[in-house]
Formats: sequence, structure tokens, C-alpha cells
Amino acid sequence: MVPPTGPGASVLIRILSLTLFGLATAACSAQETEPGPAMVAAANPHAVEAGLEALRDGGNAIDAAIAIQTTLSLVEPQSSGIGGGAFIVYYDAATGETIVYDGRETAPAATTPEHWLDETGTPLPFLTAWTSGRAVGVPGVIAMLATAHEDHGALDWAENFTFAAGLAEDGFEISPRLHSLILRTAQIRDVSASPAMRNYLFDEVGEALPAGHVLTNAGYAASLRLIAEDWRNFYEGPLAQDIVEAVTAGPIPGQMTLEDLATYTPEVLAPVCREYRAWNICSAPPPSSGGVTVNQIMGMLEPFDMAASGPDTAEGWRRFIEASRLAYADRDAFIADTAFVDVPVEALLSDNYIAARSALIDRDTAIPSVPAGTPDVPGTSHFVVVDADGNVVSMTASVEFLFGSNRMAGGFFLNNQLTDFTFNPLNADGSPAANAPAGGKRPRSSMSPTIVFNADGAFELATGSPGGTSIIAYVSKTLVGMLDWGLTPQQAIELPNVVARGDVVRVEETFPAELADELRAMGFTLDANRTENSGLHIIRRLEDGTLTGGADPRREGVVGEP
Ligand code: GLU
Repeated sequence: MVPPTGPGASVLIRILSLTLFGLATAACSAQETEPGPAMVAAANPHAVEAGLEALRDGGNAIDAAIAIQTTLSLVEPQSSGIGGGAFIVYYDAATGETIVYDGRETAPAATTPEHWLDETGTPLPFLTAWTSGRAVGVPGVIAMLATAHEDHGALDWAENFTFAAGLAEDGFEISPRLHSLILRTAQIRDVSASPAMRNYLFDEVGEALPAGHVLTNAGYAASLRLIAEDWRNFYEGPLAQDIVEAVTAGPIPGQMTLEDLATYTPEVLAPVCREYRAWNICSAPPPSSGGVTVNQIMGMLEPFDMAASGPDTAEGWRRFIEASRLAYADRDAFIADTAFVDVPVEALLSDNYIAARSALIDRDTAIPSVPAGTPDVPGTSHFVVVDADGNVVSMTASVEFLFGSNRMAGGFFLNNQLTDFTFNPLNADGSPAANAPAGGKRPRSSMSPTIVFNADGAFELATGSPGGTSIIAYVSKTLVGMLDWGLTPQQAIELPNVVARGDVVRVEETFPAELADELRAMGFTLDANRTENSGLHIIRRLEDGTLTGGADPRREGVVGEP
């Protein structure tokens, strides 16, 4: 591996450090240039319409992504927004290249490994940390979208903001899901401690605004118009000052400075790609754990005839569960920001290591306990866009937990992404934790925006989901569902979610009871009848060149064509 690079290292160096594995195995070739079918799948109908409008106006997948994300920030603020971070896996049809835009939040420069410890050295409870100023990382979404737009945008930068700015001014109806999550937040905490949020999402007597209420947001519209003039207006000037004020307010003020905002740099990285049967699966590299872990799961399944043990067999699910447990154990131990720690990406995905881990699954009963391996060594809302030129955006964006830190600036919510760092800076054995907080460091993510190429290197499908660490299991389930079990995108999305991290396997309520019994008989401990909040969105290109999409019924998303 090329040695880890510093936080200020140039984009070029970061690309080189991953080229060894990423681009080298990305079997891509240029696509046809004839206009083809286009499609958008995202978590909210307004956001889908924003993307389709951009495509109809002559924009491409990147323009659509900007319109979609700025709209999600308004209509689905509990999940993602311009006050948060994101990863895009982008396939460029003209060059055949696949590249990753990393807009992950960074920790303010003053951050130390003891960031989440109180005066007595005890890690803060998550619910205390969640809405603290200390939870807020420097937001990366706008800088990342600006970089992607400079590289590939077809419409003027400003044009991509008109849909969301107009909707913020005219107002939109609060959806049932948004309403239920405003209520949920008020059940967990006293929202009067977050006055901006309290005034925005609750009525005069403190009741959550009902579904159907038409919500306007003039502050957000004004912020969007400022950013539309020049994206730097997010990171400098009055808006930056508002952000710093919101973050440094009590309780537990954060340490973010104007300098932290002014120096935020998105990264352009190579994807983590690995061949799986006849396909090449490309997803997000560190600081996300998504690409490595999804590819480990799939790699461990490859020696097995998965097609012969379909979703109606306990044996198919047993393998999926064990591959997930083994891959999550490695994720938890090894993956963090490569600018700060040496992450053994190649070792974790090497054929020998994957084969050795896979051999552990070659049994009939549950593996009693699953520690991390010893690889040989010398980290929401998800949407997908395919435009008429064949460019593809697979983008996962996050403010981390419900409405981020619940702190607002400029009409939008600020993330609490720094709670994705390990709270305790040391591992149980006293060694430094790979994902400990540090100034300028990006917290480990699980976001797994993924693009799969067929044996000819042509785009075949794009998938991804929100869901915290469960993202990896949700996304892997859709890959097994489509690639091995022959399901359509919609069927793969609707397949029950099964999340196997550690010794308890979470199984969604739709999972057949008789299969659950068979898994218990094999020795698994199940946490059954779970509600699983995936938000999977998929577009797949069929052999005849047409597109088919899927949207997760667990959220409010739709699939649309221009
Ligand atoms: N903060 C999580 C991550 O970046 C995502 C949170 C979510 O999906 O709700 O991995």
C-alpha cells in the first residue's frame, strides 16, 4: 500500500493511493453515445421530480443529483441535506471511468481522541452526544457537488437550485413519514432545547406539525440562492458564520471555526471494485466501510452455488448471515479514514484472505462467535440517476441521525456525523482505535453507493440505501437478490432485510417464520419481527437496453422517467 497521506494531501495523491485496487480492477469501457433511456429513483416524489426536471432541461446525472439533493434537504430533512455529508459513485459513459466523490464531513481541527469522553474519561451517552455542538462535522455535500459539477455538469450550477428554492418558497406538504419522525424526535428528547427546529417543525403549542401541513422555508430558499451564486458562499461569509454560531452554542458547544469551513476539501477517489461471478461491483472506499464490506460479503458467497439455494431456503440465508457476520467483524476492527490510519483494503479483499474467511462458512450450523480476521498486511438517503447519455450517479447522503444534530443554520439541519467516530479512543486491549476522533479526520461511514458492471464492463445496475451500519447488509441483500436469485430490483428491495453483525441476527417482520425456525435450529440467535428502515433505490439496465427501477416501500420513494 502507498503510505497514508495527510489531511491536506492533494486529490491526485488520494486517487493514486487507491488506484492499485480500485481503477485497476474496474473493468469499464466506453458506452454508446446515442441518447438512451433515463431514470431517477429517490426517497421522495418531489426529489424525483426535481431530478427529472433537470434531465428534461438538458441536464445530466450530476445536474439531476444537485437538484435531487437540494430538494431532499427540504422535504426529507430527517435523513440528508446540505448540512451533512455524502458519497457519490459516478460512472462516466464517455470515458468509461468510474470515480468516487467523497463529501464526508471532517472533524474540526481542534478535535482530539478524547472528543467523546467526559471529565471522568467516560464516553458520553449517544443521546447526549447526538444533539451536542460537538457532533457536527464540517458539511461536505455542497463542496462535493460543486466539484462533481465542475468536472461533469451540463447545466449552469445555479440552474440546479431553482427547483428546491422555488419549493421552499411555495411550500410543500409534510409527508406522513416526515410527520412521524418529527413526533419520534419529540418522544426521544426535549425539542424546546433546539429553538430553531422547535419553531420550524412544531406549532405554537408545541405539537408536531401534521402530515399535509404546507411548510415553507424562506431561510432555506435564501441560502440556496446564495450558494447558487457561488458555492463558496456556503463555506465563507454570513452563512458560514451562522453555521459556526449554531455549532458553538450550548449545550456542549462544538469547536468548529470559520477556518474549518473555509478549508473543507472534498476528495476524488477510486472506487473499491471487486469481481463477483460475471460482474464487477464498485462502491465507496474508506472513509466509508461500504465498498470493502459489501465486496467481502459477496466475495465470501462466491464459492457457493447461491442460485441453487434461493430466498426461500434457510441454507441461502445461513450463508448470507455468516458472510455478513465475518465481514462486519473486519469492518469494525480495521476500517477508518485512510488519511489517518493504514487501512488494509487490498489485504481485506485479497483472493486468499476472502477464500480463508469463506471456508469458515462451509458448515451446517452457526459459527459460535465471529472475531475479526488477521488479513495479511505487509462509515441518510440514497438515490440513483441514469441520464440519456448513460452516465450514472449512485449517491448516498446523510445528516447521520434524526434531523442531524437538531441544530439549524440558514434554514437547514446540521449533521451529527462526528458520533460516527468511536466514542472510546482505545480498543479493549488498550491499542488506539482506528476510528478514534482527530482534527481534520473523517468519521468511518457505512454508506455504500454501488454500481455493478457486467462482464463486458457495461453499466448493469446501481443500488444503495440509508440505515447506518445496516446499509451494508441491505445493499448486499439486493446484490444477492438480483445477481444470484434472479429477482427484479423491486423484488430484491422487498426481500426481508437480514442484518447479521455480531452474535444476534436481526430479521425483518416479513421473514418467513418457518425459515426463522430452521435458522434457530442451526444455532443462530434471532432478533425476529424487526422493523428495518432501509431506503433502497435501484436502477437496472436490462439486456435489451431498457431501464427498470425499484423504490423501497419502507419509505416514500418513487421511480420516475423524464
Ligand atoms: N451516519 C451513517 C453513515 O455515514 C449513516 C446514517 C444513516 O444511514 O441513517 O454510515
